[in-house]
Amino acid sequence: MQMMDLTGRVALVTGGNSGIGLGMARGLARAGAKLAIAGRNSAKNEAAARELQGLGAEVLSLKADITQEKDCQMIVHSTLARFARLDILVNNAGTNIRKQPQDYGLDDWKTVLDTNLTSAFLCSKAAYPAMLAAGGGKVINTGSMMSIFGASFAMPYSASKGGIVQMSKSLATAWAKDNIQVNAVLPGWIDTDLTRAARKEVDGLHERVLARTPAGRWGDPADFEGIAIFLASSASDFVTGAVIPVDGGFSSQA
Ligand code: NDP
Repeated sequence: MQMMDLTGRVALVTGGNSGIGLGMARGLARAGAKLAIAGRNSAKNEAAARELQGLGAEVLSLKADITQEKDCQMIVHSTLARFARLDILVNNAGTNIRKQPQDYGLDDWKTVLDTNLTSAFLCSKAAYPAMLAAGGGKVINTGSMMSIFGASFAMPYSASKGGIVQMSKSLATAWAKDNIQVNAVLPGWIDTDLTRAARKEVDGLHERVLARTPAGRWGDPADFEGIAIFLASSASDFVTGAVIPVDGGFSSQA
């Protein structure tokens, strides 16, 4: 469909080398976008780039640690240097450290907040001038069910993901006049490297997710292709500041 055609558009996806970020990148590639993906692990970056090239996309893979402001600036500047434009920024890279609240150290807190929240601020700030100059753009931020619910074993993570929602709404209101739409996607429980670790560390998690999710299954990275295309394309030009669960009904169930 033409309004979801991303031919000629350029997307930068942080954490685009695996899981949900790679799922979104696949969707954007299938819709015709050129892609830059950023992560710390070069082998994962290269493998994802090859896969996305197989879908017909031009791909730039960038080794970056998005907890560092200079790396956030570098990935935006490298994308512009390679493709001469940046239409879509997906702030998706994330991490978690699971402990009881009283057991976290300040280093744990900073690692999770810097990775999940501060990076989204820094990458958005770095991308803004190019989107402003181009007359518009799209920012897609990855939240979580922990943007709306708490979890005894994920206090810094839920703080960071609550922050993603409020940051998205503030950016959306500030940049609507510039034709930049900013929205947040809240994944339910999705089968990725991140949650494979959680399943090992949290007793009974797998069964609880199945019982609590109306769709009766874990989500898959493929479940994020459609929402990424919608929020990156002109189909969503009047959608901004929205917070969209992609959760098989998890957040609708009492
Ligand atoms: P993955 O572990 O598969 O993906 C995490 C991605 O983030 C990887 O690509 C990783 O790349 C990248 N990353 C992590 N830290 C950094 C860093 N410092 N600098 C650059 N890249 C980094 O997990 P998911 O796909 O599950 O997670 C993606 C997002 O989805 C996260 O924001 C997560 O919080 C969120 N989410 C996931 C849910 C789920 O059920 N899976 C539920 C709700 C939200 P590399 O290792 O190469 O650095």
